[in-house]
Amino acid sequence: MGSLGLFLAAILALLLAARWEALAPQGLAPRPDLLLLLLLASVAMILHRPFEGSTLGVGALVAAVVTGIFGTVPAASVGGLAVLLADLLRRFLRRRSPLVAAERRRRRRSLEGASLIVLALLGGGTAARLLVKDAAAPLLRVAVAGAMYGLLVLALRFFVQRLRRTERERTSRENLSTLGLDLAAWSMGLAVVDVASRLSGTVAGALVAGFALLSLEAARHALQHGLSKQRVDDLERLGRATRRMAVSTGEPGFSRVAERLRIECSNVVPFRWFQFELLASDAPYRSWWAGPDRRLSEGAPEIPPSPPPLPGIHRRRTWQVIERSLESTSQRFGRLRLWCDPRQLEDEAVDLLDDLLPQMVGSLEKALLDREAKLDPLTGLALRRVLEERLSSAYRESCKHGEPMAIILCDLDFFKRVNDTYGHAAGDQVLVATAELLRRHGEGEGRLAARYGGEEFVLLLEGIGGGQALAVAETLRREVEALPLEVEGETLNLTLSLGVAVFPELTAKRAQELQELADEALYEAKRHGRNRCLLNLGRGRFQTIRGEILRSPAVDPENDQEAPAPRFFA
Ligand code: GH3
Ligand code: MG
Ligand code: MG
Repeated sequence: MGSLGLFLAAILALLLAARWEALAPQGLAPRPDLLLLLLLASVAMILHRPFEGSTLGVGALVAAVVTGIFGTVPAASVGGLAVLLADLLRRFLRRRSPLVAAERRRRRRSLEGASLIVLALLGGGTAARLLVKDAAAPLLRVAVAGAMYGLLVLALRFFVQRLRRTERERTSRENLSTLGLDLAAWSMGLAVVDVASRLSGTVAGALVAGFALLSLEAARHALQHGLSKQRVDDLERLGRATRRMAVSTGEPGFSRVAERLRIECSNVVPFRWFQFELLASDAPYRSWWAGPDRRLSEGAPEIPPSPPPLPGIHRRRTWQVIERSLESTSQRFGRLRLWCDPRQLEDEAVDLLDDLLPQMVGSLEKALLDREAKLDPLTGLALRRVLEERLSSAYRESCKHGEPMAIILCDLDFFKRVNDTYGHAAGDQVLVATAELLRRHGEGEGRLAARYGGEEFVLLLEGIGGGQALAVAETLRREVEALPLEVEGETLNLTLSLGVAVFPELTAKRAQELQELADEALYEAKRHGRNRCLLNLGRGRFQTIRGEILRSPAVDPENDQEAPAPRFFA
């Protein structure tokens, strides 16, 4: 019933208006066109429910009041002209800034604009014809009516923007689009009423009005069609992004999630700077950022005070920062911040980003769960299972590219005594403190620190040869030695023994073999008095940090002691 009902009601009203002076008793109809407008406004209010998406009814009421005060023709023509000018200005500004608007959105606006131009020209033409008769007074009326229409356009725009900011509902965007049509249509409606009431034949007046209303409805349908098609496209895009997110989080690591978030954001929002902060309570705070070159780095970005100038003449603008919290109903995972140039940002882009937020939260949640499954709950270091996977892949890479890789096995000296003397809790405290030192050495690409079990830890260093690995081991030994550990008021003198093995300096057919070679070195370090690190040189020879070579009794002919079996992997 909607459009057709409105159309029929309008024609009926116009017919009535055209015949008003003949039908109404004398003195009762000072302004038949105003009465007609009020009638139309009521019909429009009922049919188009202005508070649920359309401004048609509101436009009708305001237009009727303005007409009542200033007269039909000035109100109509100036309204039409104001809409036309606003639209032309908008197009001019858009063309001057490098917008990322989609082609179909541009087509939809062209259609909308064309209908506005036709409607406004009709209003303007009528006004011009009538103004010639009475030059002085109508000019003043035109000026005042113009100001009123300008104010009305501004007020409605402000109202719609407020609405959009609070609700971010897609319908408010539609409201803004239909607003232009409504204003123009009502301006033209006024002009048509005026023409119709002046024309001698009622049929001609009704025809003109009917034609105008039909074209308005056609434009409205085209607009709705464009909007729904765009929504379908958006949904498809969202579906693709969701699938990409699900695939990408198969790989562990927050950096990868951060990179995926960056890519997904850049697919929908034309930002210049990006920041993702990990804020989950069970993970350490971390932050990643990317600038205009789109490269992701860890840390916080240094944002310039304002966006760079655009080609052409533009008002200087400050950043528009889109900030979104990534959270589920029970937990907060992180925060996303995008610094955008407001001249390049469209509302649809922000809406689409908001639609993507649940997927982003999902990938973060999954990454956190992955992390939980891979980390030792006491120390936060990687578990043995994770280490073994990484060792195998590092070994394969090393064989393929000839890059060295090192394994450092670490075992706290006389740790059992700590437990026995001070209790298990104190022992745990020692483990956490040692793990923190290891974690720092295990940070970064190609490195991994793991808790192998009990008080035994492993450091994997890819791309590092024997000398460098031994130096890292020695640093770690010194750090543990210098750890300021106090338990029950007593200072603990904690020491660490370390064994280092490097591939391909040592031959190993599997990653496991390299581990065993590092364990041999660790065993020798223990045997030679603990609190030291040794690099396995092969054939029972081990190098200290000072360059001395020690021999294992198994191979040393001067030492007839039986070679002990390695304990780590026994
Ligand atoms: P060595 O210098 O030969 O390595 O002597 P050690 O006492 O360190 O060697 P050992 O391997 O015999 O002792 C390891 C002890 O570590 C035994 C166990 O009670 C303790 N331990 C293992 N896991 C944990 C843990 O999670 N917390 C605490 N507090 N102790 C642990
Ligand atoms: Mg020990
Ligand atoms: Mg041990």
